[in-house]
Amino acid sequence: MSPDMNAVDRLDILEIRSIEAIPIAIPLKKPMRMGNDTVVTAKNVVVRVEAEDGTIGWGEATEAPTMTGETQEQILSLIQEKAIPAMTGANALNWEEVGDLLDQACEDKSNARSAVDMAIYDLAGRHHGYSINHLLGGGEARELSTMWLLGNATAEADAEEAAAVVAGGVSFLKLKVGVKSLDEDIRAAHLVRAAIGGKIDFTADANTAWTVEEAQKFIDGTRDIGFLCLEQPVDADDLDGMAALAKGPLPIAADEGLHGLDYIDAHAAKNAASGFSLKFIKLGGFTGMQKAAEICRSKGLKINLASKTGETSLAVSALLQFASLIGQPDWGLSLANGYLIDDIVTNPVTVVRGRVSVPSGPGLGVTVDPGKLDTYRIG
Ligand SMILES: [Mg+2]
Repeated sequence: MSPDMNAVDRLDILEIRSIEAIPIAIPLKKPMRMGNDTVVTAKNVVVRVEAEDGTIGWGEATEAPTMTGETQEQILSLIQEKAIPAMTGANALNWEEVGDLLDQACEDKSNARSAVDMAIYDLAGRHHGYSINHLLGGGEARELSTMWLLGNATAEADAEEAAAVVAGGVSFLKLKVGVKSLDEDIRAAHLVRAAIGGKIDFTADANTAWTVEEAQKFIDGTRDIGFLCLEQPVDADDLDGMAALAKGPLPIAADEGLHGLDYIDAHAAKNAASGFSLKFIKLGGFTGMQKAAEICRSKGLKINLASKTGETSLAVSALLQFASLIGQPDWGLSLANGYLIDDIVTNPVTVVRGRVSVPSGPGLGVTVDPGKLDTYRIG
């Protein structure tokens, strides 16, 4: 049974005693190439929140300057200069108050907001002894299918990796396009489809790399591939270009073009996307994710849930706590921790044959390993 959080919020007080922001760097197993970026090393900020009773909560945001404009240094300094003074002394169990304070402190800086928000939800969950999805109303889905990202230098390497992960049980793939030449991207799509067979769910993500003409050429050259959608083919603010492409048969998804709830309405008004990639770092935490999913559901829009490349099991677990609430997303669920050489928790989120269990312990359900945190701490 779910606790009555509204009643709990009003009655209980758990004062935040201290907050610490810790910059970390963890290399990826291999560079992740995408249309507007190549990520070689995760540059994250981990947030540790301690309550008056000694309970500790953890949160995290990775930098994604080409997506949100926030670098690791900026996330760190915003948390240190604005969020820590604003949140110290606040009641971690009053999520309305916490939300208002975070909005004021972080304004539109969603990476920083998400890291602190996540840590306070983790803290509240640990205080009550419930997982976050339980606190938010009780997740239906305890186990979910995950998608695998392909972002190699050659079409052959994409196809080889695709065959290997599908043989290992993965049933949903996303091909990063826009890094190779257009002809190579089209060839990679065909080679991967040939390698995985017709039944595997498959999407493509250009991360803003193309013009409308280039995107149209890719769509025309991959008509028989059976992509579920093409994600962010053109610039984040080119809604007219998105709308022109969306007139065709292939559904178009927005990712970099979504920087807050208003952006969903703006795309929908122009028929510029029929689905969205929802990420914590873009929506600033649990409340933003919940509201975005509600808007998408009410408008009949599809959802992709994605942790940003670079996130460890901390942020990945937050995504899973949320995914458990809304169930298996139509356009895939991608988890980033598996692309890192290491993790910072004692019980990393683990994908087995393309499936993942939602961590069931209190809060986020993962436990930070102090030794690992020290190993990857920078500065
Ligand atoms: Mg994307």
